[in-house]
Amino acid sequence: MIGVIGGTGLYRFLPGGSRQRIVDTPYGRPSAPITVGEVAGREVAFLPRHGRGHEFSPHTVPYRANLWALRSLGVRKVLAPCAVGSLDPAAGPGTIAIPEQLVDRTSGRASTYFDGGGVHVSFADPYCPTLRAAAAPHVDRASSTMVVIEGPRFSTRAESRWYAAQGWDLVNMTGLPEAALARELKLCYASIALVTDLDAGIEAGTGVRTEDVLAEFSRNLPRLTDVLTETIAATDPAAPCDCAAGDHDLPAGLDPVRI
Ligand SMILES: [Zn+2]
Repeated sequence: MIGVIGGTGLYRFLPGGSRQRIVDTPYGRPSAPITVGEVAGREVAFLPRHGRGHEFSPHTVPYRANLWALRSLGVRKVLAPCAVGSLDPAAGPGTIAIPEQLVDRTSGRASTYFDGGGVHVSFADPYCPTLRAAAAPHVDRASSTMVVIEGPRFSTRAESRWYAAQGWDLVNMTGLPEAALARELKLCYASIALVTDLDAGIEAGTGVRTEDVLAEFSRNLPRLTDVLTETIAATDPAAPCDCAAGDHDLPAGLDPVRI
């Protein structure tokens, strides 16, 4: 099954008549009940990352419960749409990009299932190459580096200029620990990033405002939904990748507790 973790502005994705699944995990409840339905002839599980009413801020999203719950329902591939700021004026609002690399500037988040046991996980290439290949023909930028900041505040101009000077392209608040947890659970995972603004150091105005982000997201929601649908249709269940391999064992107790 393919999982979709909807980001800011994407709270519903599946057609009417889809089934609701309430799942519990050793890490508590996920952000919302998971909806299971069909898109492009494929079984898809949808979970709004921030909750149905956007009740979770980026730093309070129950990331561990979310990935665990999706996997326990049978999800093995995850598409993760998200809103991002752009550090490149040539990739302005409305641009859709699939990141290739990540930089972690978060702090204090529960970011692993392995709190003991000396487990280390390969993460040089944080995204699944076959999912990225399925999405690439449908997006504007197929290779970007995304820096994930702690939030919930936006960047200062100096931070923003510093990120751009490193050669990073996109700024986001939820891409980690989500991608790392997906790797720990041996899930295929790819982000699909919708640019909603130019980050503070790049634009000349007053800086990023929440209402602008939400307005830009809703303006581009139909296209983002199309990109997701086309990517799901193009995802080959038998395509080879190493996401399910890895030299670590799965976390213990990965059995669902369903209600
Ligand atoms: Zn994969």
